[in-house]
Amino acid sequence: MTNQKCIFCDIIKKTLPSQIVAETDDVLVIKDISPKAPIHYLLLPKKHIKDLRDLTLDDAKLAGNLLLMAAMLAEKENTAFRLVVNNGAEAGQVVFHAHVHFLAGKKMSHDL
Ligand code: 5GP
Ligand code: ZN
Repeated sequence: MTNQKCIFCDIIKKTLPSQIVAETDDVLVIKDISPKAPIHYLLLPKKHIKDLRDLTLDDAKLAGNLLLMAAMLAEKENTAFRLVVNNGAEAGQVVFHAHVHFLAGKKMSHDL
């Protein structure tokens, strides 16, 4: 379930500190340590999954819960938002525990 050398697993186990925004049975939401927008949350599946390419049908509920968590956060913050998921180093992934970036609080351009 967890990976010994993974900082997000350590954050989920709470052996590494973080600013927790929300928590459910299968998802932890924390503030990004280096925010790229006034609101920058990371939605972490508690299960260690390297990136979305490793999802299986067994993870369907978890994948849905990540999106539902984003919707819940947007409602709570009363904001428009952008979700970003980097999958693989060439796509900009640095921490190899799948996570969804929740970005809000500034005008974002149409271009990615
Ligand atoms: P990636 O590029 O892998 O999609 O994004 C990793 C994100 O994790 C980055 O935005 C980075 O700022 C954030 N991050 C890296 N280490 C930590 C940490 O120890 N705590 C928190 N809260 N965020 C982290
Ligand atoms: Zn992990």
